[in-house]
Amino acid sequence: MQERIEAGLREMGLSPAPGAALARYGQLMLEQNQVMNLTAITDPVAVAQLHMLDCAALLCAADFTHKTVLDVGTGAGFPGLVLKLCQPDIQLTLLDSLDKRVQWLAQTAPALGATDVVCVHGRAEELALQREHREQYDIVTSRAVADLRVLAELCLPFLKVGGVFLAMKGRDSGPEVDRAGRAITLLGGRLQTAYPYQIPGTDVTHKVIRVEKIRPTPERYPRRFAKIKKDPL
Ligand code: SAM
Repeated sequence: MQERIEAGLREMGLSPAPGAALARYGQLMLEQNQVMNLTAITDPVAVAQLHMLDCAALLCAADFTHKTVLDVGTGAGFPGLVLKLCQPDIQLTLLDSLDKRVQWLAQTAPALGATDVVCVHGRAEELALQREHREQYDIVTSRAVADLRVLAELCLPFLKVGGVFLAMKGRDSGPEVDRAGRAITLLGGRLQTAYPYQIPGTDVTHKVIRVEKIRPTPERYPRRFAKIKKDPL
């Protein structure tokens, strides 16, 4: 796994130095996956490509240097923990609504050398109403959590004005992005140019949807999850 990760990082113009830590992360995840549902991807080569390299590509889509970063719906730590292992100067918070995954991350991050990662169990739409989290982050990331209209309401309230929301989506996400335009504007965001990339060693093309926060999010958002789902903005 390590060689493949290092080669892929090099191909993307990134340092191969985190290769060993990322490979160890993949191993620990696959071991834990025997007893806890963390990933549907169990082939080590696919873990290297579809988890580690896919998430590392985000580093090419924005400048993360010394940024406060929140990963919403992080699951087994994607993309947040990959970003932290590649760029240790970020201040990372991992958020998920499934406590077992959060507990595993709280043990695993320090075992990989990432000692200052904050792991939070909770629902995004509830945490975003709390002062210690609302409009506190420079960058909010999310992969495979919800449709962009829903995701915008879950994620944009966490961002400082001037910050950026990075949503990892598939190549064919154009119509989904178009449908989210109204929500993004209402929540204080503005769409920037998307960042398309191909995962090294594969023919898989993904896109990072970038949304800049240009105004504070109105206090009435986010709404309760049932309302967000039933009546997306
Ligand atoms: N981001 C990871 C990845 O790309 O592998 C995990 C994706 S998994 C399909 C979706 C995760 O989002 C789950 O771990 C789930 O518990 C979490 N999630 C869904 N809705 C959430 C919410 N409203 N607040 C926090 N976490 C949420």
